[in-house]
Amino acid sequence: DGSTPDMQVRTTCPYCGVGCGVVMKPDPTAPHGWRAQGDPAHPANFGRLCSKGSALGETIGPEGRLLHPVVDGRRATWDAALDRIAAGFRDTIAQYGPDSVAFYLSGQILTEDYYVANKLAKGFLGTANVDTNSRLCMASSVAGHKRAFGSDTVPGAYEDLDEADLLVLVGSNAAWCHPILWQRMQANRLRRGARIVVIDPRATATTDGIDLHLAIAPGTDALLFEGLLVHLAEAGRHDRAFVETHTNGLADAFAAAFARAGTIETVAAGTGLKAAEVATFFHLVAETERTVTLYSQGVNQSHQGVDKVAAILNVHLATGRIGRPGMGPFSLTGQPNAMGGREVGGLANQLAAHMDFTPEAIDRVGRFWGATAMAGKPGLKAVDLFQAVEAGTVRALWIMGTNPAVSLPEADRVRAALGRLDLLVVSEVIGSNDTLGAGLSGPAHVRLPAAAWGEKNGTVTNSERRISRQRPFRPLPGEARPDWWALAEVGRRLGHGQAFAFADAAAVYREHAALSAFENGGARDFDLGAHAHLDRAGYDALEPVQWPLPAGARRGRARLFDDGRFFTPDGRARFQVPGEPALAARPDADAPLLLNTGRIRDQWHTMTRTGLSPTLGRHLPEPFVEVHPADAAWFGLTDGGLARLSNRHGAAVLRVVVAPGQRRGSVFAPIHWSDDNAGQARIGALVAAVTDPISGQPESKATPVAIAPV
Ligand code: SF4
Repeated sequence: DGSTPDMQVRTTCPYCGVGCGVVMKPDPTAPHGWRAQGDPAHPANFGRLCSKGSALGETIGPEGRLLHPVVDGRRATWDAALDRIAAGFRDTIAQYGPDSVAFYLSGQILTEDYYVANKLAKGFLGTANVDTNSRLCMASSVAGHKRAFGSDTVPGAYEDLDEADLLVLVGSNAAWCHPILWQRMQANRLRRGARIVVIDPRATATTDGIDLHLAIAPGTDALLFEGLLVHLAEAGRHDRAFVETHTNGLADAFAAAFARAGTIETVAAGTGLKAAEVATFFHLVAETERTVTLYSQGVNQSHQGVDKVAAILNVHLATGRIGRPGMGPFSLTGQPNAMGGREVGGLANQLAAHMDFTPEAIDRVGRFWGATAMAGKPGLKAVDLFQAVEAGTVRALWIMGTNPAVSLPEADRVRAALGRLDLLVVSEVIGSNDTLGAGLSGPAHVRLPAAAWGEKNGTVTNSERRISRQRPFRPLPGEARPDWWALAEVGRRLGHGQAFAFADAAAVYREHAALSAFENGGARDFDLGAHAHLDRAGYDALEPVQWPLPAGARRGRARLFDDGRFFTPDGRARFQVPGEPALAARPDADAPLLLNTGRIRDQWHTMTRTGLSPTLGRHLPEPFVEVHPADAAWFGLTDGGLARLSNRHGAAVLRVVVAPGQRRGSVFAPIHWSDDNAGQARIGALVAAVTDPISGQPESKATPVAIAPV
């Protein structure tokens, strides 16, 4: 995996799930010698970049990099560090069994990294304790897709956003979080007159100037869509032929919806909306066949996220508006490679290549890998995994490319739990963060210097199932190495040299593609058989392509389910009955406000990269909390003053922004800042570790908190 320093390089943005193509051009006037431009040939962005992508050249400097392995606080060689990991994992398994070791990965790492981690754990260590921060991102969509479609399939493509007549965004601030897709939606609006509805408790940049903003009460989205299901039947918009031929279960879903949300007045009362607003929304959807419903973290990050997804999918199945141009449900992925991670089994409840832990799949994957210790059951999901660390049942943990001491719910507990591990391995590009612990005396026993964006070589998959290459254009600094290589070296040290003898990232990708097609891969949605023999030159030249891509296919498929065939055993989609909408915890005298968390326009996750850009830092330079003016007056807060947010899980001190668009009774705070970069500012410390019972995704949008001036 070398570099190509003398020429421009086509690569893919490392931030959000839009997955924009980037051209990095040498430029002696740029801060680090490289300037980022949009790739005009990439079908996600056609040459455009948002503020974060445009500033990529500012973020590739050497500041703060971890440049050599560290073992027990001392500089070490790679050999010593890898020997220590292999011995630690071997001894832990010998003493406590395979489920005492775990991996916690990231939607930031590449598909090739994910593949090798998954193979090592599930095929050679005998544990499925491989989870990822994608659990916090879109696990509810994964579960919703699988329940309805029989597979984790995004049915549509970005071109549907260009061709829709109505775009409904649910729980999404796309103008800040998926800016290039938002630009495509705006272009559709200007060019074709598409209308835009946003369903979000708070006013955001995305609600500016749109056709309808439904400032819904937190946690009631499913009720709104159940009401819509009823209204569409009354308006004669259910597609009876599609429902009868291609689905099961509408009668039960409809009966439940009718009982809970049978009239517009009932829906209005339950969602806190005006009846006229509800009626306008229902009418718009009824009259607009080409409707795309886009949903993001406001739906997924919920203790009822799977129910919310189900209520949205039910509407599209009932109307047959799925898999056809300009219509369908569309999950907006948060991270750049949450999709690619899932494709190789990056979630603890998946095996590999979209296979589950069925006896047939365990046997098939085990034979393909030549596995010596196949995991036989799903592993621990993220929140459960760290509770197992706290309880002492997980004793060796390898964290890669993520900062759970900031980002996981009840982050104080998570940070404390890390100190209990017999072996904590952290693969990182930087030398200091809350998970590593400040300075060399922190809890990480082994710190591995990871290759960063611009140095790594591999693939990512964006929200529309499009695989794109991340290509290196900088040499690896110091002793930094790709994550897949470190994982393979540990596999080799554990006696599995043949299974982990990957010459390069292309070899990893080729094996991943071959596994997806092994023994009738086409029976599943995810099939990359056309790449099973891709050589290094083909890999290097790979153009962005959507899966499925079975053997012999020359082009990917923009849409699935257009033929009405789903991946359930009988080929029919399944309506689901959502549970009764309810908050996980209600505000009370001790914690009278609901905390909603999210992103801002110009920062990414815990700011490891975006925090290096002076341009991006000018947007919103410090951690803040948005408060409705009436709440600010009630709690004695002033705009620009400091406030302390607290509850029984933790506390944070943030700048007050009095915002009329904030919903009364709720406050909003961004996720990016941490104790490492901004004092007491880890908002994850306040979020309760309450999860959806099916997806395991935490409720990050409605945690009761107290607020007081500082
Ligand atoms: Fe990167 Fe997302 Fe911005 Fe595209 S929209 S440039 S992928 S952050």
